[in-house]
Amino acid sequence: MRDMLFDLHTHTDCSDGSLSPAELAAYALEYGVDVLAITDHDTVSAFAQLETSAEAVPQLITGIELSCLWHRRLIHIVGLRIDLASETLAAAIEQQRKVRLGRAETIAKRLEKLGVEDPLDDVLIRSGGNPGRPHFAAHLVDIGFVKDEKTAFKRYLGAGKIGDVKESWPSIDAAVGWIVAAGGQAVLAHPAKYKMTKTRLRRLVGDFKQAGGVAVEVCSGSQDPATTSALARITNEAGLLASAGSDFHHRSQSWSQPGRYTRLPPGVAPLWDTW
Ligand code: MN
Ligand code: MN
Ligand code: MN
Repeated sequence: MRDMLFDLHTHTDCSDGSLSPAELAAYALEYGVDVLAITDHDTVSAFAQLETSAEAVPQLITGIELSCLWHRRLIHIVGLRIDLASETLAAAIEQQRKVRLGRAETIAKRLEKLGVEDPLDDVLIRSGGNPGRPHFAAHLVDIGFVKDEKTAFKRYLGAGKIGDVKESWPSIDAAVGWIVAAGGQAVLAHPAKYKMTKTRLRRLVGDFKQAGGVAVEVCSGSQDPATTSALARITNEAGLLASAGSDFHHRSQSWSQPGRYTRLPPGVAPLWDTW
């Protein structure tokens, strides 16, 4: 029998993905995914649309991806196997929603100063009320302000640009704490994306563990072997478990399809072995 295929980081159109929860589940099945975690940004609304019973195929794991800050850097924490009925989780999601809306208003005002006419309405509609920077990027492409989303991030939305509004996100301790309070397991998402030195990443992993985190996404999407072994080493040194996921958003992103991520290297302890 082949190994079970887990994909523990995916998005639907409840955040910045493009498939509905049911479409994602069907699509993941086509890719051979046995166990699928949906981890939309700061929302769990996908699960209201899906069957989470143990017999469901693929088997669904409840999840969320929370934005938070560590030393003024934006970090993503994935929460897995969270209790959707948790009051702490509901309050956390409401707080994140307010931060997201406030941030979207600020980004919109800043873009307006550059001559972008009233972007907020369209961004709220296309995001279903859960706006993020990718929705601004898509808007800027649609109105012809930039040629593609990559350029939108490079010039206006990426780290250090005017759309990089992060002051109001919660601390990493708060984000991990909410997941733990909701009965879930906190996973440090896509560490390579933060472009930190190994020393800094070790500190982040240490603080994340201190806060109650249990696993690191050693493999996120397609990743070069040097990155994977460095992350495996840091994870093992910290005594943490290893998670993996595609961070799937869109069918068009061929490098990040469901279940298509660099496999966990030998020598790490997979998070799912604790289930
Ligand atoms: Mn996203
Ligand atoms: Mn992320
Ligand atoms: Mn993600």
